[in-house]
Amino acid sequence: HVSDWCYQSQFTCDHQCNVPDKWNHANGDCAGSYQSPINIVTRKTLKDDRLIPFQFDNYQEIFRGTIKNNGHSVQVGVPHLSIISGGGLPNSYKAVQFHLHWGNNGGPGSEHTIDGEQYPMELHIVHMKHHYTDLTTALADPEGVAVLGFFYEISNSANKKYDPIINALRSIKTKNANISMSPISLTQLIPNEQNLTSFYRYKGSLTTPGCTESVIWTLFESPIPLSKDQLRVFSELKFHDGKAMVGTFRPVQPLNGRQVYRSGGAAILASATFLVAAVATALGLSQPN
Ligand SMILES: [Zn+2]
Repeated sequence: HVSDWCYQSQFTCDHQCNVPDKWNHANGDCAGSYQSPINIVTRKTLKDDRLIPFQFDNYQEIFRGTIKNNGHSVQVGVPHLSIISGGGLPNSYKAVQFHLHWGNNGGPGSEHTIDGEQYPMELHIVHMKHHYTDLTTALADPEGVAVLGFFYEISNSANKKYDPIINALRSIKTKNANISMSPISLTQLIPNEQNLTSFYRYKGSLTTPGCTESVIWTLFESPIPLSKDQLRVFSELKFHDGKAMVGTFRPVQPLNGRQVYRSGGAAILASATFLVAAVATALGLSQPN
């Protein structure tokens, strides 16, 4: 079927499907010039003072969401009550759903990469402009959708705040399976607000077909900790054909001249060395005599 698309990990001789390089067969927009994800080269980012901290309204609201294996990922619908503003966004945006992208048993799996580093998993909280009521309408507006992206890092201890999600995964291993989760809030899934002032910003697209280019992307620098055991549970999920749902990320796409901006707090990795040298000079450490 022409609208069928799959990740590279799903392609076999027995099951030939439209892998990311062929997603334009599923939807022509996937061959566009402003596609996501991208690799963020931190030394090429431009500091933008308009990228002030976000305001998160009702992010602490507790809700009982339904988590679903949609055949490509796990997705949770969010009541349209949580609203983001500030952060250099042109409008306020309300949360619609969140989903994740991951690798194989805790291996590389994020969609965006930072200076070439691929993290084990990436969370996308999808928002639409406040006055819209459905995502399809919002996607017709070039600034209709704002996605907040968060990276994960492997921690030694389990992140208990993720128990409702991790526990539910065991019940939705097959495609279209869904279950009501224990109550959660968006706040409990992301780093503390004081660690969310450092982020990157660029204009891009959905990372799955239709690949619509109407997304304002924000990638936060501060990662979410999750233990290796917790990450491994995601690899127990199955694609429609019963194969392990792993490698659910699109490869990075060309920038095609786009500028990536960073908020005041975001670090440029290349300048860290310079900073150390500057501090050492200031302290007189570089000239021991
Ligand atoms: Zn996504």
